Amino acid sequence: MKRRTFIRNTSVTALGVSAFGILDSYSKNLVVGPNLKVNEQRIADRIAALSKFGRDEKGHGYRVAFTNGDIEGRAWFMEQMKKAGLDPIIDAAGNIIGKRKGKNAALKPIAFGSHIDMVPDGGNYDGPLGSISALEVIEVLNENKIVTEHPLEVIIFSNEEGGTIGSMAMAGGLTKQGLLQKSQSGLTMAEGIKAIGGDPDKIQSCIRRQGDIHAWFELHIEQGGILEKENLQIGVVEGIVGIAHWEVTVEGFANHAGTTPMNMRQDSLIAAAKFVIAVNEVINSVKGNQVGTVGKIAATPNAYNVIPGKVVMGLEIRDLSADKIEMLFKEIEKRAAEISKSSKTTIKFIRQANESKPALTDKKLQQIINTSAKALGLKTKFMQSGAGHDSQEIARIAPVAMIFVPSVGGISHSYKEFTKTADMANGANVLLQTILTVDKGN
Ligand SMILES: [Zn+2]
Repeated sequence: MKRRTFIRNTSVTALGVSAFGILDSYSKNLVVGPNLKVNEQRIADRIAALSKFGRDEKGHGYRVAFTNGDIEGRAWFMEQMKKAGLDPIIDAAGNIIGKRKGKNAALKPIAFGSHIDMVPDGGNYDGPLGSISALEVIEVLNENKIVTEHPLEVIIFSNEEGGTIGSMAMAGGLTKQGLLQKSQSGLTMAEGIKAIGGDPDKIQSCIRRQGDIHAWFELHIEQGGILEKENLQIGVVEGIVGIAHWEVTVEGFANHAGTTPMNMRQDSLIAAAKFVIAVNEVINSVKGNQVGTVGKIAATPNAYNVIPGKVVMGLEIRDLSADKIEMLFKEIEKRAAEISKSSKTTIKFIRQANESKPALTDKKLQQIINTSAKALGLKTKFMQSGAGHDSQEIARIAPVAMIFVPSVGGISHSYKEFTKTADMANGANVLLQTILTVDKGN
């Protein structure tokens, strides 16, 4: 953006007149000039407005993808987009896309947004923040008559919480089989996509290829408690962790719990207990942010008077590095072999197919986010995302970056999910400045 544009706009808006010469309730709070700022009240108002769509009988959030609440929330969002001059369309995967022309039509678009669907009993910030802030960026540009060099696209992906379906389709990863899977709504993905105005028969038409998108940005709540605990305002996301799952089966021998002496037992649950501890020790034995969990366990026959003959567990490892996940798993296998020997049991691993690979964000974009945040006087931290996001799908076809803001108490996927208005505005301001910087070709 040119400095001259700034100066001209400053004089106009200093009179409390928006870029279109219309006085409105928001324009008087607007700060323009080199410190172009988002309107935090408008963000808070829209978060509140969207949260009214999709409620269960207890009054809790139920904007699960493809349900009535989702359909109504999407209609409301598209209405807001229209008011901001975006003229939204729905692609074949049900993604909502609003385009704003740039000065140079030959350039590829800078895209940003998130999702507005939620998990059952979900919160009002996971997804809506990035979606509403994307719209806010457009509003601020409109009010200040700023036309970017690149075309801009606000994208609201469909069914993020049900497996990043819309973004997966855009990145070319949604298969025919995937379309037949049941979604949380009870409809298959294909039926659900139809219900929100997409066209599963033409799913290929929504695919973007490498080079089609200049850069993708997603502002999101942290969903963890690190930023709040460390009193920081902005998380610069280095990547979204990969997740690998194994089914672990320990086989011993089920026998009478009264008549089998302690030294003659092949107790699979004892071996499993040692295994759970060993996983925790291995994960903690190396530096880094890796996490590993045995979150699931079932013993058979599961009775007072029988020594457990078989235990099936679920092991999960997450990290930003696929190599590190493999290294940690090899260590766990070694420990399992020792436990198996000492307990006279067998321990077998079956790797599960639902694995997600780590998705790294673009290093240059990370730096631009960090610099933008610092220039706004905000304290930042480079961090990983332990939760999945649409950005991980788009990372396959474009440079991506994510901005995190604090979640109060680290709570999300809950009606208690909350992010302070000032933090939302900080994130949206960083998004705005980052987009403008990237647009200028830095
Ligand atoms: Zn989300």
